[in-house]
Amino acid sequence: MFEKIVIANRGEIALRILRACREMGIKTVAVYSSADRDLKHVRLADEAVCIGPPPSADSYLNVPAIISAAEVTDAMAIHPGYGFLAENADFAERVEQSGFTFIGPKPHSIRTMGDKIAAIEAMNAAGIPCVPGSDGPITEDDSNVLEVARQIGYPVIIKAAGGGGGRGMRVVHSEAALLNAISLTRSEARAAFSNDIVYMEKFLGDPRHIEIQVLSDSHGNAIHLGERDCSMQRRHQKVVEEAPGPGITAEQRKFIGERCAEACRSTGYLGAGTFEFLFENGEFYFIEMNTRVQVEHPVTEMITGVDIVKEQIRIAAGEKLGYKQEDIVLRGHSIECRINAEDPKTFMPSPGTINNYHAPGGPGVRVDSHIYNGYRVPPNYDSMIAKIITHGDTRDIAIARMRGALSELVVDGIKTNAPLQLDILADSAFQAGGTNIHFLEKKLGL
Ligand code: ADP
Repeated sequence: MFEKIVIANRGEIALRILRACREMGIKTVAVYSSADRDLKHVRLADEAVCIGPPPSADSYLNVPAIISAAEVTDAMAIHPGYGFLAENADFAERVEQSGFTFIGPKPHSIRTMGDKIAAIEAMNAAGIPCVPGSDGPITEDDSNVLEVARQIGYPVIIKAAGGGGGRGMRVVHSEAALLNAISLTRSEARAAFSNDIVYMEKFLGDPRHIEIQVLSDSHGNAIHLGERDCSMQRRHQKVVEEAPGPGITAEQRKFIGERCAEACRSTGYLGAGTFEFLFENGEFYFIEMNTRVQVEHPVTEMITGVDIVKEQIRIAAGEKLGYKQEDIVLRGHSIECRINAEDPKTFMPSPGTINNYHAPGGPGVRVDSHIYNGYRVPPNYDSMIAKIITHGDTRDIAIARMRGALSELVVDGIKTNAPLQLDILADSAFQAGGTNIHFLEKKLGL
């Protein structure tokens, strides 16, 4: 096992990784920007190294600074968390070339999954159902492109191969708009991702977002931990997540979960990962794979009892998976609400000092957060300041506990989206379960 790990991230996930390390008896090194000296995990870590000024490009994305922090502290491995460098194959490669272990998949897996066209090809080969589409890049041959779209049927969606974070996509409803939409998406993709390759998919009208969590070790073992429903989204950003997915049957879970685990085995995938699907009329359609721990991993931990971050570390250290598929038994229901420092109506970020903080508690309530009384939320980074996670024997109990937890939460001095979360939890459609990916934007009148 590693003696010391560098945590190459900030905020709640850095604290989450630190807690896993402490439990495992591993020493920790926090790396932080000069805006983040007061982060909770920086204070709790065994060592801390400042890696640059506030802009992410100069600190959390500063590869040489992070690697030299590992060198000067004699660390053995680097955990990238999510965001920042977590899905950067070049970073993973540099880490390994410098003699450290990257806690995540091998660079080739990250690279394949980071290119959406390559990812879809790999998934088709592995027997994972994908959205009907152009089967590769859209060509320059306009008549062929029009024919492909006719076969798929309108509406279609044009997507950038290098896209991410909900950017680089355009829905097209008619043939008249197709070619222009393709050239617009191409030029946007060139500017944003330095890659103008685009592809086409059938645009699904009212899908849900269902994703499968997997764990895969270096000894050929892979398991799935069931699904999460992350359909409650605004601008493709998840707001509420839950596990299991309302209405997903044991047969559906087994069908798609086993295919994902098999895809991990056949591609030599290493570590934790998530296969994201759109789910419509009982069918799963692969859209992308995330090769890292996800924000919403706690809901899966709550219903399976598996500590996903500890498993990531154990797998990276070459240990065998601590579980077989038959050991994974789902218990109860779990919901997560992301608490952001933002105006609940305009969604404008609301950085500043938290002068009064009370965390909720009680049975079945978990709070993953780095904030404390007097903490100043810097304006430089993502606005998520906490995740509230509840668990109960039934979905209704998990919802009731979440409504209680949200109403107990006090964060004074800045605005948060807690009022919006309470509205969502009170909505009868959410309470019934199974709302689609457009539900929240419609509710907000967008
Ligand atoms: P990103 O990497 O930017 O997150 P994804 O491919 O995961 O992009 O898609 C993000 C979101 O866009 C999905 O969760 C869904 O809301 C919407 N979307 C993507 N592809 C389709 C599709 N074929 N039909 C309908 N909606 C889609």
